[in-house]
Amino acid sequence: MTAIEMNGKDLSQKVRSDIAEDVQQLKEKGITPHLTVIIIGDDPASKSYVRGKEKACSETGMSSDIIELPSSTTEKDLLTRIDGLNKDETVHGILVQLPLPDHINEQNVIESISPTKDVDGFHPINVGKLMTGQSTFLPCTPYGIITMLNAYDVTIEGKHAVVLGRSNIVGKPVGQLLLNDNATVTYCHSRTKNVTAFTQEADILILATGRANSIRGEHVKSGAVVVDVGINRMEDGTLSGDADFPSVAEKASLITPVPRGVGPMTITMLLKNTITAAEGLDAVGK
Ligand code: NDP
Repeated sequence: MTAIEMNGKDLSQKVRSDIAEDVQQLKEKGITPHLTVIIIGDDPASKSYVRGKEKACSETGMSSDIIELPSSTTEKDLLTRIDGLNKDETVHGILVQLPLPDHINEQNVIESISPTKDVDGFHPINVGKLMTGQSTFLPCTPYGIITMLNAYDVTIEGKHAVVLGRSNIVGKPVGQLLLNDNATVTYCHSRTKNVTAFTQEADILILATGRANSIRGEHVKSGAVVVDVGINRMEDGTLSGDADFPSVAEKASLITPVPRGVGPMTITMLLKNTITAAEGLDAVGK
């Protein structure tokens, strides 16, 4: 079998054009969806992600601003800034680019963002809502993965989904979303014994370990749907996923490439969450 590629770049363009229409409709009601991104320090990768988010906002007609703060910023100053944004009715979504400098407690910052403006979906209230199957902001990468699976008509109900990775931003929430959609979910992590025994049983295999090319064709069941979340920078400067693409694509029925797979969907779902925030939390969809 040679897998069909699930192209996140093309799907993103389609979803973003729907978002642009939503923005237009909101503007006609006098609401311009606005995302504020806070970035602290000079990390080039973070700066590049933030620029990508700003560009995506402007392409869909949304407004955004970036607050750039020096790495010497204190936690107290940052929390004061966030408090101001929470109270600012023209700001619908707030995102603090992670990671933060060591002297700032990440959890305190996440919990200081109003759950109604938490477009990253990291606030414990929103995580709790996700766990209990209530409408909420979904974390962007898992939301993008589910959107892709739906767009490619992948049946989730009754399938065995195996998730490699259990981070708070990818592994855990994507497994929870699959469970909410009635998959049977297995999580594997660095302490799992004989990971291959699980991957070979997966109807839907989510790779989110950040271990380049570590999953090969022999680790995958014939006809599996493989979602490769990993983004690994190789020595020659190219990007690679967690899957050894050629051998896994031989076995799978559907697979996401890296790049042009999950990555573009992540920013797209951030835009979608910002629209939802502008519409009011009652409109949170899923
Ligand atoms: P983390 O480093 O936070 O988590 C990695 C997870 O992989 C951990 O749970 C770890 O287990 C697990 N793991 C490590 N080794 C193994 C192994 N041999 N077998 C099974 N599980 C293992 O990473 P993130 O979740 O933040 O990101 C994962 C990857 O996805 C990275 O490559 C990242 O760059 C990429 N990414 C891509 C995004 C996109 O938009 N496409 C967005 C976010 C991330 P343990 O918990 O035991 O340590």
